[in-house]
Amino acid sequence: MPLSKCPRCEKIFDKSNFPVCNACRELEEADYALVKDALAVNSDMSAEQVAEECGIDLVVVKRMLDTGKVKLVFAGDTSVTCGRCGAPAISASKKLCQSCLDALNREVAMAQKDMRLGGRKKVELGQFSTNVRKTLDDKRI
Ligand SMILES: [Zn+2]
Ligand SMILES: [Zn+2]
Repeated sequence: MPLSKCPRCEKIFDKSNFPVCNACRELEEADYALVKDALAVNSDMSAEQVAEECGIDLVVVKRMLDTGKVKLVFAGDTSVTCGRCGAPAISASKKLCQSCLDALNREVAMAQKDMRLGGRKKVELGQFSTNVRKTLDDKRI
């Protein structure tokens, strides 16, 4: 049986039937009822919005998404998640959330800076080896 730590109370339990332990199952179902009601009113919400609307933890909403419990209820771009952290993506084409997009932009800028530095280093090395060859040629003469 697949033993796992209950995400709600951190107790070890058998995960084969339910994503949380028996003791937490009722709480999880209560949260699910809240999510279901909120989505009945407005189905076009992101995981964050659902969590805020229901007053529950975002991880609970994400767990319901992971287990496929509320998957089909979400409409539109909310099904697209960030490829880096799993948060709802800002658009279907980008597949990144805002914070990861910012981080990625910073990384690209850093990489470009490194490339520029690396390029200059190569030129310096080239000049150096030309000088060495010149010295050797001089010696041969
Ligand atoms: Zn539990
Ligand atoms: Zn992200």
